[in-house]
Amino acid sequence: MEKEKIITVTSPLLPDLGELNKLLKDIWNRKWITNNGHYHQELEKALCEYLKVPYISLFTNGTLPLITALQALRITGEVITTPYSFVATTHSLWWNGIKPVFIDIDPQTGNMDPDKIEAAITPKTTAIMPVHVYGKPCNTQRIKEIADKYGLKVIYDAAHAFGVEVNGESILNAGDMSTLSFHATKVYNTIEGGALVMHDAETKKRIDYLKNFGFANEVTVVAPGINSKMDEVRAAYGLLNLRQVDAAIEARHQVAIKYREALRNVEGITFFDDMPGVKHNYSYFPIFVDAEKYGMTRDELYFKMKEQNVLGRRYFYPLISTFSTYRGLESANPENLPMSHKMADTVICLPMHHALKEEDIERVLKTIINK
Ligand SMILES: *Cc1c(COP(=O)(O)O)cnc(C)c1O
Repeated sequence: MEKEKIITVTSPLLPDLGELNKLLKDIWNRKWITNNGHYHQELEKALCEYLKVPYISLFTNGTLPLITALQALRITGEVITTPYSFVATTHSLWWNGIKPVFIDIDPQTGNMDPDKIEAAITPKTTAIMPVHVYGKPCNTQRIKEIADKYGLKVIYDAAHAFGVEVNGESILNAGDMSTLSFHATKVYNTIEGGALVMHDAETKKRIDYLKNFGFANEVTVVAPGINSKMDEVRAAYGLLNLRQVDAAIEARHQVAIKYREALRNVEGITFFDDMPGVKHNYSYFPIFVDAEKYGMTRDELYFKMKEQNVLGRRYFYPLISTFSTYRGLESANPENLPMSHKMADTVICLPMHHALKEEDIERVLKTIINK
């Protein structure tokens, strides 16, 4: 039998080549190709407006803003975080010489369980690093109350939460700072890219120094900063993608509606519904396989889908706490993280992107429904 077309888990949002070419010509004319150029400034302005945030600083990827936020806030000692994320979250702590302390997740959302935070606080704790997993907002109110009570900073890894709002307010305004990733696989991309969102001009200035080696001016270096500047080509590409991201999110929404409709009554398969008051971005569509009820394990289903050229991804399996760098930590003990392990062992993220066609969606669903 002839193999059908491969359906990938994601597909990058790409700007129109003609439009991009116009902007490239302009960049060539200006001969200013990086270091806070024209399109860099334009993109920061446009993103502040689109995301409803006061200040943003562009980065060359989504990992360096995590590392830089920790440096700027002078975080040391221990940071409470989640093992149910992409490995960059915890790596950013490692790069700052900080000890990660993993706590378990809330199975209702996949996010860090706020009820587990207080028990993990020690005299060395200085911050909390939660993740809005799959773009589902954390309970930011509850996390703020605990952070305020103990004098802790909060840095949100909001790599999945581009454009997510709660009751009309951007989720990116929560905590001391929030980070974004504009990697090719994300809802909004600049090929590689990322950003840091902050509340005030003073912090933005400091962050802008830190992403440019720590230079405050020609002769003053204020700190050992990294190099993480976004160049003009990717900033221009990003400006064009911003024009079509709303349509892409709406296309994803329609995919989610169809997946939910078809999977709602499939025994042993569960998924998340939209949260009330939340503007979602439909960045991922995770399903959870209950092997007993479904009659097949997660991995059996995952490989069966793969055989039929439907490529899901087991995000987030394996858990960060199981990787060799981290598994020796006391908090990495699986007994400390039962819900995280359960979710990691049952999840498959279905293909989810703006370019999925009706027949693609049907093929994805058939691999799950026809056993
Ligand atoms: C993608 C991602 C990152 C890292 O972003 P890059 O742009 O790939 O460096 C960090 N955290 C989470 C949760 C992510 O999904």
